[in-house]
Amino acid sequence: MVELLTHSRITMRQTCPTKEWLWYVERLRPREVSWALSIGSAWHRGLELWQRGEVDEDGAVRTGLETLDWIRPESEEERYKLQLERIRTECMIRFAVRHFKPRRLVAVEREFEIPILNPATGHKSRKYALGGKIDGICEDEHGNLWILENKTTASIEQFKQSYGMSQQLTLYVYAASRVFDRPIAGAIVRAVQKSRMEPKRRNGEVVETWEDFRDRLLAEYESNPDKYLSEDEVIRAPEQIKQFESELWMECLERNWQARSGVVRHNTANCHQYGGCPFLPLCLNVEGARESLYFLSTQQHDELSIETA
Ligand code: SF4
Repeated sequence: MVELLTHSRITMRQTCPTKEWLWYVERLRPREVSWALSIGSAWHRGLELWQRGEVDEDGAVRTGLETLDWIRPESEEERYKLQLERIRTECMIRFAVRHFKPRRLVAVEREFEIPILNPATGHKSRKYALGGKIDGICEDEHGNLWILENKTTASIEQFKQSYGMSQQLTLYVYAASRVFDRPIAGAIVRAVQKSRMEPKRRNGEVVETWEDFRDRLLAEYESNPDKYLSEDEVIRAPEQIKQFESELWMECLERNWQARSGVVRHNTANCHQYGGCPFLPLCLNVEGARESLYFLSTQQHDELSIETA
């Protein structure tokens, strides 16, 4: 069976091979809500349907927020957090729909699965394929194709610094050129900055209605579009694509070595990064953690509809 390698999967293994094993091979998912993932899904869903021309602004908000309906808050604190994130997501979608430049779209949410090639021989890997989903492909006035990525970010300024080395952009430019069998000019990266604003409080008590908070947050976005939104063209040089292709092949070789040795490495430098790894209780062998803190996902790649059972 061919194993599908996506950007997320490759990145997770770079972060920690054990984490990648637990997530993609054992398919364990933390029971605790991952707000970043949930909001990312809501944002992508709303924009996907809007880009397809299937919904207007209100429809984009509605379909995006529907993806959060599965979350059942169990405390007052969780209820507050859910409502806060729903409004923040709504404002980001409305702001994006109002300000992203119209593009001539050739494809929306394009999934792909292509063979991984040995750059030295051109032979296909028998064990691994490259997969993923590109937010969009658009054509400029000169007939050049670009990939289109819609992102949310904590800081537009810092996000722009990631363009040069972004593996995801390189991977998608590379994959799209093979899928369409045409050169890809680069990536158009559109981003909206997430807000940390919350409803007003007095003496610790919330004194602003959710409606007033939403109006204030939208007004803040609209007052300074250049601060909260960016749209940039990012180019990839042929050498970067070549380097990526070589590293992708190395990824396959490293996985083969890992499988042969039966040893899955722990990157202990990552355990406490970004709020802590969700698999820490498992790696610490906490009794009963596997059953109580995680569930088994039916999907290997949550972001794809391609099923690779
Ligand atoms: S807790 Fe540390 S070693 Fe274990 S999966 Fe997470 S990052 Fe890897």
